[in-house]
Amino acid sequence: MSSPSPLRTALLALPMLGLTAFMLFGGKPPSSWQAGLALAATYVFLNALFILMLHTGKTDRWRSILFVTYGLLFIVSFISHLIEVRGTMVLTHDTYLKGETPFCHIVIPMTLIPAALTKTIIFPGTIVGSFASIASMFVIWIGASLALGRGWCSWGCFFGGLDDGFSRVLGRPVLKNLSRRWADLPFAVLLVIVIWSAASLSPVYCDWLCPFKAVTEFSEVLTALDVVKTGIFLTLFLAFVVVLPVLTKKRMQCAGLCPFGAFQSGANWVNPFEVRIDAALCSKCGLCLQRCPTFSISEESLAQGRTQSTCLKCGQCVDVCPKKAARFHVRGTAAGPELARLLFLYPAFLFFATFAGGNLQDGLTRILRLVSTGRMLG
Ligand code: SF4
Ligand code: SF4
Repeated sequence: MSSPSPLRTALLALPMLGLTAFMLFGGKPPSSWQAGLALAATYVFLNALFILMLHTGKTDRWRSILFVTYGLLFIVSFISHLIEVRGTMVLTHDTYLKGETPFCHIVIPMTLIPAALTKTIIFPGTIVGSFASIASMFVIWIGASLALGRGWCSWGCFFGGLDDGFSRVLGRPVLKNLSRRWADLPFAVLLVIVIWSAASLSPVYCDWLCPFKAVTEFSEVLTALDVVKTGIFLTLFLAFVVVLPVLTKKRMQCAGLCPFGAFQSGANWVNPFEVRIDAALCSKCGLCLQRCPTFSISEESLAQGRTQSTCLKCGQCVDVCPKKAARFHVRGTAAGPELARLLFLYPAFLFFATFAGGNLQDGLTRILRLVSTGRMLG
């Protein structure tokens, strides 16, 4: 893909420069110099990476920087917020009773399906009204699913940046030739937690398995059973988010455990974008198959010129393919690879900037405050 001229890049970037300025600067003025600096840095950071995507023709190389930074700053922002509001990362019995638990997209399948079967919302959060209410997260999820399908997992998930980041620590995988059967595990987890949640009318994935409790909030440890649950989520975090991604260069939490990821694979059928392999150009070198972080390209799918429904549209195969055979495609159109990639990048980046912008800014503000005053909390 030849680089566009600087003028063409600038013209292509102009809509996003305007939209992100409107989104980020359109609200209340910053409350401190740290917040003002963080706001300006967020704007420059987001758009610099988007311009690099446009100008270099590489997607994943720049997306991963955005995404990993988001994963890290989300933790800074979220934990600080919890401590300001609640004084602790620990979720107490009182929090459950008051329905004050922030809702997270990973809970969607075990909320949606039991709700359809039993007419009961089993999550202890508010339905409407707060920044992480059940209704607001559902609206965001439906919009993003229609626009990006499982692209959510590379352009929106506030946890995905962690295993994505750890999968890039080493240049080469230590554990190679992993069985593709790992990709079946999230579907099995999904089936089990949906049935178990509907039967017990409780959010069992949050309660028992979610590894991200290690970096967000977790229940009080009061009984021997709580000790077991705490041991499970810490072990899963270390194994699937840190150690296995480092050793395999795969996003093992997303590709080998996450039930939401499995559920979201279905959304790949109802949105316009997909990644395809042009069989006429492909030399069958296998590089895309090795590099795909989610086992979404197999020998068979390569021969058929497609990626599997688990593809999370990170663009890594498109970036590395030496023959430019792996490419973005817009279903039902004859758009060429460059136009198709551009048509995908606009909604993907806009979703990222909208969803992540606030956390990036807040996380950065807190770090600046820590450096300048010694205090991270407001
Ligand atoms: S990296 Fe490109 S050329 Fe190599 S197998 Fe994949 S699509 Fe074919
Ligand atoms: S098939 Fe390509 S775009 Fe899809 S997850 Fe794998 S590397 Fe990313």
